[in-house]
Amino acid sequence: MSSLAREIKSCRLCADIFAQTETAHEPRPVVWFQPNTPILIAGQAPGARVHESGRPFTDPSGDRLRDWLGIDQAVFYDRAQVSIVPMAFCFPGYDARNADLPPPVICRKTWHDRVMQDLGQVPLTVLVGGHAHKYHLGVRTSVTETVRSWQDHAPRVFALPHPSWRNTGWLKKNPWFEADLLPVLRARVQEVLND
Ligand code: SF4
Repeated sequence: MSSLAREIKSCRLCADIFAQTETAHEPRPVVWFQPNTPILIAGQAPGARVHESGRPFTDPSGDRLRDWLGIDQAVFYDRAQVSIVPMAFCFPGYDARNADLPPPVICRKTWHDRVMQDLGQVPLTVLVGGHAHKYHLGVRTSVTETVRSWQDHAPRVFALPHPSWRNTGWLKKNPWFEADLLPVLRARVQEVLND
C-alpha cells in the first residue's frame, strides 16, 4: 500500500458528519488503488455491505458491474489490474428514508487530485454514476445524456450509470446501453488487460 493509501485509510475527517446520520457509523475508508493499473473504476461511495466487508463492490451492484465489464472476481479484485476509487472512500450513511446519502464533498476535495496524480496515466477509466461523471469529465449534463454521449470519451473513458438495482428501470428504457456500449466496453477491457 502506498503512503497516500495508508494516509487515506486512517482518515477520520467525516467522523462528526457520520455520527449524525441515521446509521451513526464510524468512518471506514475502503482503499483499493495503486499506480499503473490498466483500469480505473471511478465510483460513487461504498454502500452498507461494502462498509461491512471492507472490499469494494461486494454487493449486487458489483455483480452487475463485473458483468458489464465482462470480467470475473479474480480479475476485478486483482490490485495490479484494477484500481477502484470512489468519490468518497467511506459509506456516507442513510438518510431518514433509508436512501444512501451523497458522497461527502470533503473527501473529493481532500484526496482526489492527489490520488489521480498517484495513479498516473490510466489506459481505461470507467466512470460509475453522476458524481464520477462530474468530477472526471467536468460535465453538468444528466446521467442519461452523459452516458448517451459515450463515444465522445471512448476508448480511454467510459461513462456508465450506477449499476444499482435502482437503475434497472433505466436499463430497460435505454436498451442502446447494453446493445451498443457494453460490447465496445468489454472489448476495450480485454484490450488493456492484454496489453
Ligand atoms: S469519506 Fe473520505 S474524507 Fe470522509 S472520513 Fe472517509 S476517507 Fe476521510
